[in-house]
Amino acid sequence: MDDLAIPLIWLFSVVIGCLVGAAKRRIGSGLVWSLLFGPLGVIVVLCLPNLAKKEEDAKAQQLLQSQVQLQQAQLRELQALVTAVAARPAAQAPAAVPPEVVYYKTTCPSCGIHIEHTAFNGWVDCPQCRRRVNLAIVEDDGEGEGAG
Ligand SMILES: [Zn+2]
Repeated sequence: MDDLAIPLIWLFSVVIGCLVGAAKRRIGSGLVWSLLFGPLGVIVVLCLPNLAKKEEDAKAQQLLQSQVQLQQAQLRELQALVTAVAARPAAQAPAAVPPEVVYYKTTCPSCGIHIEHTAFNGWVDCPQCRRRVNLAIVEDDGEGEGAG
């Protein structure tokens, strides 16, 4: 019984050491340590740094870095766009055309001269007879309210 107990413990230790080593991506170290030192080797394997976790961390770091680079590239493009948009109105501003003024012609109902005016509706003073002419009435009947 005692002759069998130690090899059983050793075999169990080797299995555990290999499992722990495999979980840490150190299956070789797990096998060697547990094979040489038995249960003590398993403790050593448990204390070894986890390579799998380190690799994962490195991958996460790489992903994060690539994301940061992508975002920086996007930011640069956006800034270039903003400066391009900001530069455009300054170049176009001097080319702005003043609004066109439309002139209407109305015949004065009193003296018959042509009055030029910009308003379509309302009142205008005749430059010759000084009479106020209602543009809407003149345009409507062409006769006016009559000579007072
Ligand atoms: Zn007039």
